[in-house]
Amino acid sequence: MRLRIVEFPDPVLRKPTQPVTVFDSSLKTFVDEMTIVMKDDDGVGIAAPQVGVSKKIAVVCVDDVRYVLVNPRIVAAEGEQGGEEGCLSFPGIFGEIKRAAHVVVECQDETGAPRRYEADGFTARAFQHEIEHLEGKLLIDHFSPIKREMIRKKLLKNRS
Ligand SMILES: [Zn+2]
Repeated sequence: MRLRIVEFPDPVLRKPTQPVTVFDSSLKTFVDEMTIVMKDDDGVGIAAPQVGVSKKIAVVCVDDVRYVLVNPRIVAAEGEQGGEEGCLSFPGIFGEIKRAAHVVVECQDETGAPRRYEADGFTARAFQHEIEHLEGKLLIDHFSPIKREMIRKKLLKNRS
């Protein structure tokens, strides 16, 4: 099955996700397929709700390193960084978003093994963005109400 990117305002993007409890070969296949869809769209991160699956799974690829984040939690966040951010579920939309400069993430990989990642800069930003997806929080939630409304109208217009 070929996965497809779900775009805003699809309700699955707002739904809180369920933890992963079964680590089998279909999970590994799913993670690989998410990675392919993400790379096809020139993304650096993708979360399961973005392909219509409401589970705590995300993938981040930075500098050819792939991080598989299953059931991730941010356990520490420090500092602040600004930077432009986009999202595969908001084609053509970019905005300046403040994020923590440094984060520590605890999660499992696709085999269920515990992992802990410390990240700075762009990788830290990508981790925060994808983990927010798993809570139903989106790029536009960081924007002002006016910008948010403009984007909503633009995306609805593109769809019709
Ligand atoms: Zn996104």
